[in-house]
Amino acid sequence: HLYNQVQDLKGTIRVYCRVRPFLRGQSNGQSTVDFIGENGNIMIANPLKNGKEARKVFSFNKVFGTNVTQDQIYADTQPLVRSVLDGYNVCIFAYGQTGSGKTYTMSGPDLTSEQTWGVNYRALRDLFQISKTRGDVIKYEVGVQMVEIYNEQVRDLLVSDGSNRRYPSKLTFTACSLKFYKLSAKFLSRGVDFTLTIRTLDIRNNSQLNGLNVPDASWIPVSSTQDVLNLMRIGQRNRAVVSLTVHVYGKELVSGSILKGCLHLVDLAGSERVDKSEAVGERLKESQHINRSLSALGDVISALAQKSPHVPYRNSKLTQILQDSLGGHAKTLMFVHINPELNSIGETISTLKFAERVS
Ligand code: ADP
Ligand code: MG
Repeated sequence: HLYNQVQDLKGTIRVYCRVRPFLRGQSNGQSTVDFIGENGNIMIANPLKNGKEARKVFSFNKVFGTNVTQDQIYADTQPLVRSVLDGYNVCIFAYGQTGSGKTYTMSGPDLTSEQTWGVNYRALRDLFQISKTRGDVIKYEVGVQMVEIYNEQVRDLLVSDGSNRRYPSKLTFTACSLKFYKLSAKFLSRGVDFTLTIRTLDIRNNSQLNGLNVPDASWIPVSSTQDVLNLMRIGQRNRAVVSLTVHVYGKELVSGSILKGCLHLVDLAGSERVDKSEAVGERLKESQHINRSLSALGDVISALAQKSPHVPYRNSKLTQILQDSLGGHAKTLMFVHINPELNSIGETISTLKFAERVS
């Protein structure tokens, strides 16, 4: 039944809000979340200086409280994943200030237990599983591209040609292989950051090249969740917008017809406004670019939500890359994250306002 619901959601945008619990060691103080209603409402309480509270209700398709499990989060996402194999473009992304739980939702806190796996891994597991069960009817090929958008430049995260990429160990790589990615993932899991000077890539919308928006980004064929897991660790740095795109091509064995779908998984950079007095130089430039691409994304989604005839895709690289997965026949799901701490109230309200504008 969920499946049918999602069929109807073609071209629509769903917004789910998730509230992170207080973390261990954090004052289990007063929560700014006053109330979570059944119908996607959340009430925020903002204490005022005069001892009173300002309350405001925000509405979404769904609100998940602090005790909701990764399983429950995914249950509402799964039908979208299935539709990728039916030939739809799907975009799932996470929005919220740093520390609000974006990576927890998209990737999970650790990968050792499937119980805590986030949406990304569950989605991939399902993609591979479902494609296998359909194997008698449709032959699928799955491949991924992963790019980062850094200061409005698009960079390939899955390629190395030695001259472009330098690793702390001074090792250089010439081959583009899964083995290489496993190695680099290992570096990252030790907290070693990479120094990157990478060729920037062009975006070509409506290209005929297999429907790839960034045709020059490496396309890595994958056949298991593990393959993709290894690739994805690379993308978990925080200071840029990273987009993982899973492309699915299916060939119906009897008719020979081809279907094509893709799944964009985007763990956005933190949405917090950076105080100009705190950030200078490169850091300031980075955060300005990030804020600009997030607000461009907001503008696009809000135009789509309002069925506006003009959708400003061209205002940022992010929206250009996601163009054919936002609007049209695509299905979009945004998880907005908030944390309940009092000192985050300002960001919480601006996050919820952003999200409400698009839903
Ligand atoms: P972000 O990616 O938005 O910066 P993280 O996902 O890294 O935030 O979350 C920040 C911290 O909060 C991490 O320690 C994470 O494990 C924890 N956390 C986030 N969401 C939850 C949740 N729903 N339940 C328990 N812990 C969470
Ligand atoms: Mg994160």
